[in-house]
Amino acid sequence: MEAPRIRKFGTFLREIFGRRVHKVGLVGGFTCPNRDGSLGTGGCSFCNPASSLPAGYRGGSDFRRQLEKGCRHVSKRFGVSLFLPYFQDYTTTYGDPEELERMYESVLSCPGVVGISLCTRPDCLDDGVLDVLERLSRKTFLLVELGVQTFDERLLADMNRLHTSGDTLDALERLRDRSIFTAAHMILGYPGHTVETAVGDAAILREAGIGGVKLQNFHVVKGTAMAKRYAEGGFEALDQNAYVEMAVSFLEETDPRAVILRLNGSAPARLTVAPEWSTDSRATTAGIEAALEALDTWQGRKTGASREDVSGAPDAGFHPVLRTIAEGTPPE
Ligand code: SF4
Repeated sequence: MEAPRIRKFGTFLREIFGRRVHKVGLVGGFTCPNRDGSLGTGGCSFCNPASSLPAGYRGGSDFRRQLEKGCRHVSKRFGVSLFLPYFQDYTTTYGDPEELERMYESVLSCPGVVGISLCTRPDCLDDGVLDVLERLSRKTFLLVELGVQTFDERLLADMNRLHTSGDTLDALERLRDRSIFTAAHMILGYPGHTVETAVGDAAILREAGIGGVKLQNFHVVKGTAMAKRYAEGGFEALDQNAYVEMAVSFLEETDPRAVILRLNGSAPARLTVAPEWSTDSRATTAGIEAALEALDTWQGRKTGASREDVSGAPDAGFHPVLRTIAEGTPPE
């Protein structure tokens, strides 16, 4: 069989757990410091929290019931029996550490659950929270998805992120010091974000030893500051070919051991302003994969990695906690 051109998350989970694992999105009733007033109230310029709710979510914050329902749904639809709960609303490490720990722990006992996945911001990982995450990562598979978006200060300010690239590097270092498996959410193609920015961002993540990456094509969502700016003619919607080029360039600079969680992002069609193509995630993913093939390139190629490096087993030094889970021995 031909070696893959990128290290896909699904394959990676199968390597660890021996079977297919499916994520199940959960809404835990969180907020974020960029909305509750502690840093700001307007939120990031691109964000409409309604666009990232799990499909089929109808309200209510009883995540244990959400999980059971979600597991039944994906099990029926995809024939899977292993699940990775994903707390995905707002900033899911933003809260009292003890309460967070209780919440995270409560889903671990559900049948078929192999771990937990959380999303957060670089400035919501104080020592109390990191203690909780470290404990969790020693007993189960923990994936922290960190909203990085870019390391370009000018773009971070334009996005109204209200944190700096220095905050991100600090968070990455502290997560890595505790061997917490971390993936970066990156937005490519935000107005002013170029192929060069994408390449620079990928190189910084590689040097920081990132465990995974989730790529998102910038798209304009209703109810955001960017939707207003777009309506006023402030910028043009991202071109699909331009995004494919950015994604390929980003991947070529990415560590071949890093796991690629996703190649693009979309909002529901009813919330999408532009570009229209962004609602067809499968087509965008297929376009990137076709471009990798046509250019005969792969993840990490520009860093000197071979295709075999992409398909090789995860490095124990790189993923110490995962390796220990795979071997069935709890970490020290
Ligand atoms: S992207 Fe995250 S940090 Fe920014 S406003 Fe939305 S939920 Fe808050």
